[in-house]
Amino acid sequence: MSNSTKYIFVTGGVTSSLGKGIISASLAKLLQARGYTVTIQKLDPYINIDPGTLNPYEHGECYVTNDGAETDLDLGHYERFLNVPTSQSNNVTTGRIYQSVMDKERRGEFLGKTVQVIPHITNEIKDRIQILGKSGDYEIVITEIGGTVGDIESLPYIESVRQMMWEYPDDCIVVHLTLVPFLRAAGELKTKPTQHSVKSLLELGVQPDILVCRTEHPLDNTIRKKIARFCNVNPTAVIESIDASSIYEVPIIMQQEELDKVVLQKLDLPSKGNPELKEWKEFLDKLAHPKSKITIGLVGKYIELKDSYKSIIESFVHAGAYNECEVDLKWIHSDKLNGDNIDNELSALDGVLVAPGFGSRGIKGKILAIQYVRENKIPFLGICLGMQCAVIEFARNVIGWKDAHTTEISDNCEYPVITIMEDQKDITNKGGTMRLGAYKCKLLDGSNIAQAYEEEIIKERHRHRYEFNGEYLEEFEKHGMISTGKNPETGLVEVVEIPDHPWFVGAQFHPEYKSTVERPHPLFLAFVKAALKNKQ
Ligand code: GLN
Repeated sequence: MSNSTKYIFVTGGVTSSLGKGIISASLAKLLQARGYTVTIQKLDPYINIDPGTLNPYEHGECYVTNDGAETDLDLGHYERFLNVPTSQSNNVTTGRIYQSVMDKERRGEFLGKTVQVIPHITNEIKDRIQILGKSGDYEIVITEIGGTVGDIESLPYIESVRQMMWEYPDDCIVVHLTLVPFLRAAGELKTKPTQHSVKSLLELGVQPDILVCRTEHPLDNTIRKKIARFCNVNPTAVIESIDASSIYEVPIIMQQEELDKVVLQKLDLPSKGNPELKEWKEFLDKLAHPKSKITIGLVGKYIELKDSYKSIIESFVHAGAYNECEVDLKWIHSDKLNGDNIDNELSALDGVLVAPGFGSRGIKGKILAIQYVRENKIPFLGICLGMQCAVIEFARNVIGWKDAHTTEISDNCEYPVITIMEDQKDITNKGGTMRLGAYKCKLLDGSNIAQAYEEEIIKERHRHRYEFNGEYLEEFEKHGMISTGKNPETGLVEVVEIPDHPWFVGAQFHPEYKSTVERPHPLFLAFVKAALKNKQ
């Protein structure tokens, strides 16, 4: 192990959804604010190689990194909090671990040995944990173990943590997140679930150093002492994590609880002064005191599970706060939009975003929504499939090509205005084969998008197989939809706009992946501004 890297493992007990990702990101933020270089990694116990092939209903949004990894949505939180990009190494799944071990087995790398969970799988896990540390870029690596202690699937991960704690006792600590429920009938907070979940960890050979206790009510000293006594930790290492009104308050709450201080003590690292978190607090202040309010319609087909649009939602939180404006999202199910209800659903909106997606369900509603905002001059942002639908709508209703479509849905349409990318044509495997990750885009001077970025060449992340069909560009431009962003190398059309509209932008890339608290995304900032203007 590199002698300068420290490892913090974050495990969870009692129940899922306690917010391990947010606690990890908050701790990382505090350590970063003290001057440490920190990154966060997520180990996911499921057997998919990555979440790229998962339906959003299963696991929420698939987050894409600069290097084109399709990852867990927690990586989005890591980037939004830390303002530092993540990569493929920051997300590892059981599927990837096994695939790598099995490839090695086929290559004969195990020299005739029986391949087993211990040591082969656990060695692979430990190697993956240490990749980021060994890169030399980070003093501290926080590794979040997905799932809940006691799950069959997470056993090899916990075992790997046990081995690392034993091998490098001075460089590793475990932060265990649990729930302290309040029983209304008894009028009391209950510590037993925490005790049990720590016992489960102990059975696996892991003694947590710090307990972060999620609770709806403050933990008094008696409760803290009780938890400490039963779980072999110091009372100061029992950290209260009270419900917050915004995830962005959690770093401040953790600072008040001194989570970062206790962590540094346990790791024997200098505290390097108390972080001010000035910019962060300014952001929180703006977030809490908006001067105006707008309503943006979010048209998508996965809206029953809001996590499917996590990065978009957070981008609006950032852009809203910086515009001192509360952005109220109205969720509009693209499946349910039709000619009868469209006016009712969209007329009062200050702006409309049509979301990314795959397949035919909900396409009609998306196209209808775009026609409505185009004709009624409501500010519009289309992302990926949302941009593609804007192109289809324009072809049908402005140019007059009634049978214009994307070949994703209608292979034999007369006007394939959106078509499969050349290098996608022979691909049959679904996993990890889209056009993924960051590509350059050259913006047209004077366009809405160029004004938003105030830059000529930008880099944004992609995740798609289909694209604007360049053959038709001339005809589109003649009729008033122009390309305002192109890939400088290939000439692919990445952005379309309608200059004769207050603000109509469709982007083939996903701006939402790059919005952070300290660097709100320029396109969302500009969209919110346009919606504010529309409202006035
Ligand atoms: N389904 C479209 C494509 O593959 C759009 C993808 C997306 O919205 N991410 O090109």
